[in-house]
Amino acid sequence: MKIIAIGRNYAAHIAELANERPDKPVVFLKPETAVLKPGMPFYYPDFTQNIHHELELVLKISKPGKYIEKKFAHRYFEEIGLGLDLTARDLQDECKKKGLPWEIAKAFNGSAPMGNFMPVKELGDLNSIDFHLNVNGETRQQGNTSHLLFDFGTILEYVSQFFLLKKGDLIFTGTPAGVGPIQIGDHLEGFIGDKKMLDLEVK
Ligand code: MG
Repeated sequence: MKIIAIGRNYAAHIAELANERPDKPVVFLKPETAVLKPGMPFYYPDFTQNIHHELELVLKISKPGKYIEKKFAHRYFEEIGLGLDLTARDLQDECKKKGLPWEIAKAFNGSAPMGNFMPVKELGDLNSIDFHLNVNGETRQQGNTSHLLFDFGTILEYVSQFFLLKKGDLIFTGTPAGVGPIQIGDHLEGFIGDKKMLDLEVK
């Protein structure tokens, strides 16, 4: 099982990190060891002083596929949920400055805390899904898929050229604006619409 994640997929988030707007999806991977199962706490590691929350809608791949055409992409995922793309922003900034790969900043143990999934059918229009993140009861991130630069179909078409998608793989689709640091003791809650889908304690 692997995680394929898309960076810079919401314009307001690109602006807040002063990144360039990409003309193709920005892709990176996280290994299976990044996954934190729903309900498991996240233990803040020693190698960073600045971990950011990035709440993202996650597609769960339901069957194998490569060279998937955009128009058939909907056949390859039956469930959507929420995950956090935890990012050691201090390490990432160092890597970016030196033009080095991001893995230590993005793919470390527990860097992908997962919430629950719901059937795609329950969501209605996939191009207008509302989701948000509360930290200690205060809303920090709000997104809607109508603001995606690359929609789900475009993402699957693009990434499946390079990576064979397998059942159970997870596609993180990018974070909206509002990213910021987490602290030990924080309580993070993710929602799709009004439905709570993710709950994480930082220890
Ligand atoms: Mg992200």
